Amino acid sequence: MVAQRDMIGLFLLGGTILSIAGQDGPAESTALLEAAGIKGAGAVDIVPWRAVGSQNLTIPDILSLAAEITRRAEDGMAGFVVVQGTDTMEEVAFLLSLLLPASLPLVLTGAMRTADAAGADGPGNLRDALLAVRALAGQNLGPVICMNGELHAARAVRKVDAGRIGAFASAGQGPLGTVVTGRVRLLQRPLPPPPPVGWTGGDALPKVALVTVTMDADPLLLAPFADPRWAGLVVEGVGSGHVPQALATPLAELAAIKPVMLVSRCGQGDTDAAGIYRGEGTAVDLLEKGLIDGGSLQGRKARLLLTLLCAKGGNRDELRRAAAEWAGLGLLP
Ligand code: ASP
Repeated sequence: MVAQRDMIGLFLLGGTILSIAGQDGPAESTALLEAAGIKGAGAVDIVPWRAVGSQNLTIPDILSLAAEITRRAEDGMAGFVVVQGTDTMEEVAFLLSLLLPASLPLVLTGAMRTADAAGADGPGNLRDALLAVRALAGQNLGPVICMNGELHAARAVRKVDAGRIGAFASAGQGPLGTVVTGRVRLLQRPLPPPPPVGWTGGDALPKVALVTVTMDADPLLLAPFADPRWAGLVVEGVGSGHVPQALATPLAELAAIKPVMLVSRCGQGDTDAAGIYRGEGTAVDLLEKGLIDGGSLQGRKARLLLTLLCAKGGNRDELRRAAAEWAGLGLLP
């Protein structure tokens, strides 16, 4: 009998790793688990959780996953591996970082090749993830993605290729570490994140949208977001967070009635809150007009942060302060 403190909870959510090419529905997971050295009993507790492509995972799915992980961690479980599709893995990892303490050993993995493909990467990724989750205990790294022999921090990582097995990268900072020939090596540490935002929203999920601004974007792009069913909006501006002049007033009008967060569409680097660039539609103009600074957050992750903050409620200043803790991580005075 394995003691609870040595057990890893392995949550199966679906995705390519559990799929056969050309078939709808999940593949039999036993073969995958056996190829990864998991025999169905012992130190890994397998929890079939969902069986969906990751484009169909929802925020409530991940809220309930986080609640279950919390319950098991309180019972003394040592760590957690989440197996899911790669398409939204970076969002799930970041959402879990907003919900769970960074001290919890938690690794996400999946595969780029189906279970039946020649050179399927799923079993190896899963084995690496299980090694990593034990090795990372006590390191305080928050959720980590383990794919293709690399470890990536939830905040920095992005899926950058739709097909290759090396599909994940942390632009501008590189992987946190590696898993090679069964050895886990840490190359760097992420900055300690703020305390988790947590979930205080009950069953009602605020709807927060993400829009990417393009050259010559038309103000019509923003028209749907005046609808009160949208609780908030994240805007990915060009470069360091700028928009065409024609969008400045519509954005200011939206920001007067709901939280609107500004980030860069580049995926790394800050908004120009310092005001190097001036004039209508520049980042600093939008911030002065009431938009909330998303700093160096990627848009899709800023959307998750704003969703939880909207659920939390509180006044504008409280929301702005809470957002700044995440958006401004690492900025020195
Ligand atoms: N479409 C798949 C998913 O995200 C891709 C994958 O798992 O790699 O579920």
